[in-house]
Amino acid sequence: MAVLHKEFTEFNKKIRLSESRREMLKASRKDIKRKIRKWFKDNKPTELQPKFHGQGSFEMFTGINPIPMKDDDGNTLLKFDLDFGIYFIEKEEEDNKQTVETWHNWVYQSVEDHTSKKPVRKTTCIRVIYSDGHHIDLPIYYKHDDIIELAHKSKGWIESDPKEFYEWFNNIKNAQLERIVRYFKAWKNYKEINNSNLKFPSGFELTILAANNYVEDDNDDKAFRETVRKIDTELNKPNGFKCLRPTTPKGEDVFYNYTISRKNNFLSTLKSLLNDLERAKDDKNFKKASEILRNNHFGDRFPLGADKDEEEKSNNLGKSLGAASITPKPYGY
Ligand SMILES: [Mg+2]
Repeated sequence: MAVLHKEFTEFNKKIRLSESRREMLKASRKDIKRKIRKWFKDNKPTELQPKFHGQGSFEMFTGINPIPMKDDDGNTLLKFDLDFGIYFIEKEEEDNKQTVETWHNWVYQSVEDHTSKKPVRKTTCIRVIYSDGHHIDLPIYYKHDDIIELAHKSKGWIESDPKEFYEWFNNIKNAQLERIVRYFKAWKNYKEINNSNLKFPSGFELTILAANNYVEDDNDDKAFRETVRKIDTELNKPNGFKCLRPTTPKGEDVFYNYTISRKNNFLSTLKSLLNDLERAKDDKNFKKASEILRNNHFGDRFPLGADKDEEEKSNNLGKSLGAASITPKPYGY
């Protein structure tokens, strides 16, 4: 039985969003904020000036380095995904709520020439795409009487609170749960690149599934495997294929619009992940065990284990595990 805790934590170091990347993305965010501010200042009255708030994985420290891709000219693309909320806050005795369409158009115009690519009009945001591959999603919110609503192009104004969500996660998480969310995201990244027919749950949805089904263990391989098992069990119960939003709009099933094929593809890929995590555990050779996960689920960012059997290593194991478990990583390390 090969314990791959060491390999998993090395994998985490490779996929975790590095501090320098974080700074780069922050600078990009600051830059677009300046751009949008200026456009609204030049084109709209004082009561229609935006505020900004970060959201998503960036605020939960669960972001990962994407697997590098090549564009048609052979340039390397790093498809970092950043979410940056734009808020319009209603003052007393004022009603500046425009149609969803109007806000989307204004934000679109404000960033239209920000990069060489045209922004993309998405259902819940305007997406600005950069030539190095990263993009910034700009969802638009209107706040009145302590209610925050998202400008949703097909549903209209819907209640939403992204800050509440990342605070929910940050309150319940520990360093291991952060790592487990990263393992899920790295798995999604690898599987989707290698099979364009697969459309996995979003990072947001995987975060909810991981948090709700998290099984703690001293070893990351076991914690991840048992979390996968619990998700698999839950989703396969009769009427169990759902993912309930834990914060406003609380209880909404975020899987509501999944097609049957998207659902079945995800369930079967999840099952194969679980089976391979089992096979890796049962293989006593570290190299062979790690290869199962490298070849089928994570790619070569997952480290190759040593070509030796578990027994030879068991004496050192206690020591290294002990060391790992007494160094809880601080928030946002
Ligand atoms: Mg996004």
